[in-house]
Amino acid sequence: MQFTDLQAQYAALKSQIDSRIQRVLDHGQYIMGPEVAELEGALAKFTGSRHCITVSSGTEALLIALMALDLQPGDEVITSPFTFAATAEVIVLLGGVPVFVDVEPDTCNINAALIEAAITPRTRAVMPVSLYGQVADMDAINAVAARHGLPVIEDAAQSFGASYQGRRSCALSTFGATSFFPSKPLGCYGDGGALFTDDDALAQAAREIRVHGQSARYTHTRVGVGGRMDTLQCAVVLAKLPRFEWELARRHALGERYRELLAGLKLQLLAVRPDRDCVWGQFTVMVEGRTEVQAALKELGVPTAVHYPRPMHQQLAYERFAPAAGCPVSEQVAARVMSLPMSADLTEADQDQVVAALRSVVGA
Ligand SMILES: *Cc1c(COP(=O)(O)O)cnc(C)c1O
Repeated sequence: MQFTDLQAQYAALKSQIDSRIQRVLDHGQYIMGPEVAELEGALAKFTGSRHCITVSSGTEALLIALMALDLQPGDEVITSPFTFAATAEVIVLLGGVPVFVDVEPDTCNINAALIEAAITPRTRAVMPVSLYGQVADMDAINAVAARHGLPVIEDAAQSFGASYQGRRSCALSTFGATSFFPSKPLGCYGDGGALFTDDDALAQAAREIRVHGQSARYTHTRVGVGGRMDTLQCAVVLAKLPRFEWELARRHALGERYRELLAGLKLQLLAVRPDRDCVWGQFTVMVEGRTEVQAALKELGVPTAVHYPRPMHQQLAYERFAPAAGCPVSEQVAARVMSLPMSADLTEADQDQVVAALRSVVGA
């Protein structure tokens, strides 16, 4: 059993993916070929955003968003400590200061009620993470940010396709930033990502920053990066898009099935708020004695992973940004979270095997 089954997806889409790739090889426009604008149009429509700017990775999407907002050294960005490193990394790369605000114990997303107390005169942005595929509490986050005139960047690397009050992840705030890393809900065959915004000026800034700050060829209006997404990777995502709604439905069904089958076992399921769904970018549960549980599951042929074993404020590179009182909830959940095999192509038979193995290991 695989943790994320990408081979089954390729088998299902082989002719579309192969012909899309062949078309790029035939026209030869490997950088900014026609597939780039085609994908941007399709993704803007899918999310309901005015603008989509494809970029070279999810990390680059976050970085370019902060650059477009003109983050300066010493500026503070409020974010979650319980996330993949990229979220805090891009803030520090620009000389900014990540201000870690603890998460909710049942969703592992940033606790919106704690944000206002963390705002200072140096705060320049709020960057929530829609962890595991469930959108963070965006209404509350947008409201507190608006009261203080702050932009909001949703790190939607794990939540592409998720819905929040009938709207899509990535289209809920100033910027949405996602990743097409192969194992994300919508993946390419390498690195890729995208930024979404309704703001024309910010979209223009992001487009320029993506190509070395050029407003026209060899006219460098601002400092930028080499952050384009390859035409070939855009072609792969385009080939996958027609199946994506089916994949989302599969993820929802498998997530619900996991939750029904796991109810009653000695583990804790994540809460999913009633006004949103979860696309299960990871299907994560909380268990006691995780190291032993993982080892026993491995013996039974069930792969697991930990997202993430240590919160950012306890990582060597970021501990200088740790709040004085720590982030106790993040620390508690980091010790207990464990992700189970999940992808749109996970079979019910494999899922049954995961559940049976878990039952025998943790008990009911
Ligand atoms: C994957 C991920 C990223 C980074 O995306 P890349 O495409 O790998 O650069 C950022 N934030 C979160 C929460 C992620 O899961």
